[in-house]
Amino acid sequence: MNKFAIPSPPVVGLPIAGSDEIFPVRRVYCIGRNYAAHAIEMGHDPDREPPFFFQKNPNNLDPSGEFPYPPHSSDVHHEMEMAVMLKSGGTNIPLDQAESHIFGYALSLDMTRRDLQGAQKKMGRPWEIGKAFERSAPVGPIHRLSETGLLNEGAVSLKVNGETRQEGNLNQMIWKVPEMISYLSEYFELAAGDVIQSGTPAGVGPVERGDSMEMFVEGLGSATVRVT
Ligand code: MN
Repeated sequence: MNKFAIPSPPVVGLPIAGSDEIFPVRRVYCIGRNYAAHAIEMGHDPDREPPFFFQKNPNNLDPSGEFPYPPHSSDVHHEMEMAVMLKSGGTNIPLDQAESHIFGYALSLDMTRRDLQGAQKKMGRPWEIGKAFERSAPVGPIHRLSETGLLNEGAVSLKVNGETRQEGNLNQMIWKVPEMISYLSEYFELAAGDVIQSGTPAGVGPVERGDSMEMFVEGLGSATVRVT
């Protein structure tokens, strides 16, 4: 067995509600424009065009409850999303088997340097600089599917400093969770530890240092993230 030449990067482990165990993260997939009202607010036609995905990095997921305002942006937006954690995977997963791969769910944010993302969009370039920056995905504790049941409907909201900014329902997703799993598995090999951020309802907007963001999904409760 060969030794690593440099210290091995740590596996990212996320807390699981009511448990000493942690969830190891392998990959993070994020879907774009998955709620019609959000697609419209971003200037797009909400027709059911094929889904598209981008990725964040495993260590962008951050359960600390703090979001440090990132550099090189003056327009950082909140996107409230439900994260889906997989316990297994594969390729070409049939739709009717997709839900059997779900480990659980968590509250999450897809924080976005909107000014940088917008500039990349204009130039037809990748979005990573706007999306996959340090600590760009605050997450709450993971709730096991065995406790929550399947979450295909339920209120989703985000309050900033006590004021509701985003509101929607999981049942308004254009591409449902099983469809996302099945579709992704046609293009990638999914595996245990993969995380899917399932898109944001309408109402995205900027945050400032000192703001308090309260994430909520019916069935997962709420958790607060402070912008520092
Ligand atoms: Mn998003």
